This record gives sequence, C-alpha cells and structure tokens, in this order.
Amino acid sequence: AKQQGGNRYEFYHADMKLNTENILQLEMDLRRALEREELELYYQPQVDALSLKPVGAEALIRWNHATQGLISPASFIPLAEATGLIEALGDYALNQAIKQTAEWHKQGHQITIGINLSSKQFNQHTLIGQIQHAIEKNGLASQYIDLEITETLAMNDAEHNIAILNGLKALGVKLSIDDFGTGYSSLSYLHRFPVDHLKIDRAFVQNLDLETGQSLARTILAMAQSLQLTVIAEGIENTTQESFLQKHGCQILQGYKYGKPMQKEAFSDWLNHYNR
Ligand code: C2E
Ligand code: CA
Ligand code: CA
Ligand code: CA
Repeated sequence: AKQQGGNRYEFYHADMKLNTENILQLEMDLRRALEREELELYYQPQVDALSLKPVGAEALIRWNHATQGLISPASFIPLAEATGLIEALGDYALNQAIKQTAEWHKQGHQITIGINLSSKQFNQHTLIGQIQHAIEKNGLASQYIDLEITETLAMNDAEHNIAILNGLKALGVKLSIDDFGTGYSSLSYLHRFPVDHLKIDRAFVQNLDLETGQSLARTILAMAQSLQLTVIAEGIENTTQESFLQKHGCQILQGYKYGKPMQKEAFSDWLNHYNR
C-alpha cells in the first residue's frame, strides 16, 4: 500500500490488506509508540446495577499518535495481533492497569479492574507468571483483577482453554466471558468454564428497545443465573435499557450513561464524586 496524501491513518484500518510493507511500517510505529509511551489506558466506569455506585472499571487502550491523534483499538489491535506486537502491548496494558488500580485502592476505592486479553496473550505460557509478578509488585489483591476473554476465543478449543482458565483461576483472579452472545456458546462448556462473569455485548443492550431484543436478553440473564454467573451489561446509554436490566437481575452496568472511557485523572475525579 502506498501512503495516500500523507493520510497515514490508512495504515491502521482493520480491514486493510496486510502486506509486507505496511506490516513493517506498523511494527515500527507501534514499537516506537510503546517506547515513547504514546499508548495509554483509558478507564470506563462499571456501576452496581441497583445503587449505581462505582464497583469497577474496564481498561481500554488508546494510541495517542504523535501526528494522527487518538487511534481506536478496533483499528490497531487486529494488526498488533498479526505482527506479534500484541504481546508487548498486552503486557504493557496488564501492568499499567494493575499499577493504577493498586493506587486507587490505596486512596480507598476498592474497585475491580477489567483487563482484556488477546488470543495470543491468553495462550502465552508466561501469562500466569506476568500476572503474579504484577500483583506482587503492586500489592493488589488478586480478586480485584477481572480478566476478559471473548466468547469466540473461549469456545475455540474449549477443552484446552479450560486448563488455562483453571491455571488463571488458581491465582485468585476473576474471569469474564466478553462479547457474550456474539459467538456460539456450548452450554456444556460454559458450565465447565471456571468463569465468574458474562459480559453481555452492546448489540443486545441496543436491542432492548424492541420486544424481541427483550426476550433474548431475558433468556441470557436467566441462563447466567442458573449457571451462577454475574452479568455485566455493556453499552447502556439510556434509562429504558437501565430499567430493563435492573428489573431482570443484571448486577453490573457499563456504558456511556455512567461514563465514557476516560484518562486516569478524570476517572479519579469520577470516583471521588460518587464516593463523597
Ligand atoms: P470491548 O472489550 O468489547 O470493549 C467495549 C467497547 O465498547 C469499548 O470500545 C467501549 O468504549 C465501548 N463502549 C462502552 N460503552 C459504550 C456505550 O454506551 N456506547 C458506545 N457506542 N460504545 C460503548 P473501545 O474502547 O473502542 O475498544 C474496542 C475493542 O478494542 C474492545 O472491545 C476490545 O476488544 C479491544 N481492546 C481495547 N483495549 C484493549 C487491550 O488493552 N487489550 C486487548 N487485547 N484488546 C483491547
Ligand atoms: Ca472487554
Ligand atoms: Ca465487550
Ligand atoms: Ca467488543
């Protein structure tokens, strides 16, 4: 791919064709970004569904490109996966998120931190050691770490994944199935996974305005209850969605209604505001 009118954003498009040239360009830029700390974690509020008080945050990575400005992870995560840089990126996110959450704990905010794991990271045999190291170094109790893996990743080679999940679980961390409902779940595997939470995908929450969307959400919530899993719903933007989820036993809510992903300083302000 040729550079087009200096618009290098083209390089990071998720659906672009990968070729040697742009992979190398991306690798160089991303590697430099990691060194220069152009990558930054944003934190999105998670609240208790009934009290609407803070219970946690999801850490979401942003690339603050020197000339291109803020680049969405939807654009650069897939390419980071393809180039192998996802391992350094994932390691960075894991350590930053745990360090920052330990700081919030010292300030009296006992919140849980949701951390997204890529497929490569999940399958790295060094993952458990990395998490253990970050926990010890920062003095954060492991039960406040919630590792998110997507439903698609979890169900692909489920038998093998159960072993990895059990290893992670032995650290005392919480585990979530992310983007639940967007892939195929086998109930028998879901039942055997040592997971704590299901994160209902935003697509379902958006459909709560429709009758059919409501019955689907009710089914997911009932199933989660029977499996004794906590449900975190993503993408709540209005009161209709909020009321429905409260009424049907969803425990944790996340969405623009409570706060967009924000920088750590803004998230601290948000915590202090709600805990007055
Ligand atoms: P995800 O894990 O499903 O994260 C939730 C996405 O929904 C975030 O997009 C968040 O900003 C967005 N969202 C939350 N509430 C609302 C809402 O009310 N309305 C709307 N319109 N959107 C909402 P974001 O931050 O752009 O991240 C996109 C994806 O990139 C994430 O989806 C995740 O798959 C990936 N990602 C982000 N950070 C990391 C990371 O550190 N590591 C890995 N492996 N993946 C990451
Ligand atoms: Ca997630
Ligand atoms: Ca999600
Ligand atoms: Ca998603």
